[in-house]
Amino acid sequence: MSAAPLRATAARRVLDGFGNSLRSTSLSARPTNVEELAAVLQQAREEGLNVSFRGNGRSYGDASLNTNQLSIDNRGMTRVLSFDPATGIIDAEVGVTIEDLWRTGLPHGWWPYVVPGTMFPTMGGCTAMNIHGKNCFKAGPFGDHVLDLDLMLADGSIKTLSRTQEPDLFRAVIAGLGLLGAVTRVRLQMKKVESGRLKVRPIQTHSLEEMFDCFVERMPQSDYLVGWIDCFAGGASLGRGLVHQANYLSAKEDPEGRSLLALDAQGLPPSIMGIPRSMMWRFMKPLTNDAGMRFINTVKYHLPEPHDHEGVFYDGHVSFAFLLDFVPGWRNAYGDSGFIQYQLFLPDATARRAMREALELCQRRGVVSYLGVFKRHRPDEFLLSHGLDGWSLALDFAVPAGDPQKLWRATNDLTALVLEAGGTFYPAKDAVVSAEAFARAYGERLSRFLAIKRQLDPQTLFQSDLSRRLLLY
Ligand SMILES: Cc1cc2nc3c(=O)[nH]c(=O)nc-3n(C[C@H](O)[C@H](O)[C@H](O)COP(=O)(O)OP(=O)(O)OC[C@H]3O[C@@H](n4cnc5c(N)ncnc54)[C@H](O)[C@@H]3O)c2cc1C
Repeated sequence: MSAAPLRATAARRVLDGFGNSLRSTSLSARPTNVEELAAVLQQAREEGLNVSFRGNGRSYGDASLNTNQLSIDNRGMTRVLSFDPATGIIDAEVGVTIEDLWRTGLPHGWWPYVVPGTMFPTMGGCTAMNIHGKNCFKAGPFGDHVLDLDLMLADGSIKTLSRTQEPDLFRAVIAGLGLLGAVTRVRLQMKKVESGRLKVRPIQTHSLEEMFDCFVERMPQSDYLVGWIDCFAGGASLGRGLVHQANYLSAKEDPEGRSLLALDAQGLPPSIMGIPRSMMWRFMKPLTNDAGMRFINTVKYHLPEPHDHEGVFYDGHVSFAFLLDFVPGWRNAYGDSGFIQYQLFLPDATARRAMREALELCQRRGVVSYLGVFKRHRPDEFLLSHGLDGWSLALDFAVPAGDPQKLWRATNDLTALVLEAGGTFYPAKDAVVSAEAFARAYGERLSRFLAIKRQLDPQTLFQSDLSRRLLLY
């Protein structure tokens, strides 16, 4: 089967990174099954187009962009192929989203082991980036729960990969940035849950040191731990913030929790303080500047969260996991120049010092992140994974319309700091790291990845703006 000429007939779409600071036009195809996908690849080869993949465009930078070339959209392949309520194993086409996973599993008591801070990423995007959640220190990344997957190679043939079937390739495709072929199907193990809600303990931490200490103390008895940092606070309060510890509840602990597994007991509220969620970002926009965000961060730090006499509250899985989805379109509040996310990944041995230096550096340069998110990670088996025995700090920086160079100079210095501390970078969040810095961070693992790439895809059919920036060929 051959597709119509792509240059003449494919839709031209302006695609963006989630940060809205990068945009470009691509030809776009949305195959609805593997036969159509193979035909599109063949046609691309015949026309000399290179190919990248796109899920829901939730990567912040250029990972899902392919300027003037072909972008293949996962959202034509959205079927759940099977789900077993007895085992929690789900087999899904690549356009199935995290939202589809929990909607399928939760009524039967199954929740995805690993979810990001938004429910819209697809199986393809989660696999290619090997995403992590607020439980990475305990559950590991997404790839740890993948049982097997199908990969379509440049010639249109399909391989099924798992820990026993071509395990080296399995470990290279997960976190492989979509550069080895098209993931078309993923089979995943979900996690048994007995209640539709979590027990959440908010903890105020007065400094960065305290936040690290709080994690170290609480990790053994937590299912989820995530820190929020007020990046404006300085001096003795540098790195102050809030930690949220969350734990699953057994049927015995929470007999009413079973009824909350129902879909209509989950979901996000339609309005916040009487304002429809879809309108919220318009109210945020006038505050999305240094003065407004300094104010919001201060209020958030001081505002007590409602809790019971034991210092806890109960929150549904969906509202705990997908806080950022509460405000659809929130990225628009950053205006036309958008924002970037820069997530520092630092080894345990150097993280405390390097993170403190990073926060100080940003304040000195007048480039302060409006949102700081702190997590603990663990190493994993995937070749190009960002996972490490260490910590991360995700920083959201507005791109200054008048003087973007100020931001690029600061992120260059953050990159130098990460390298000096022996840390690494996460392509899902990156728009600025150089090929040289990426190669230094990934070292010999990158050489092994590129050897597989050259063997499987000698014509370099699979590319993206990110792969060209980082010289991944
Ligand atoms: C609000 C928000 C919160 C987030 N929170 C987290 C978080 O907590 N943890 C985390 O790890 N990430 C987080 N992310 C990042 C997000 O999870 C990843 O960027 C994810 O990859 C997005 O999935 P997507 O389907 O939108 O893929 P896209 O962003 O469209 O693409 C991502 C990559 O996947 C590749 N890809 C897509 N489909 C295929 C395919 N079929 N075959 C091969 N490769 C493919 C693309 O080529 C690209 O390289 C967050 C993002 C947002 C916007």
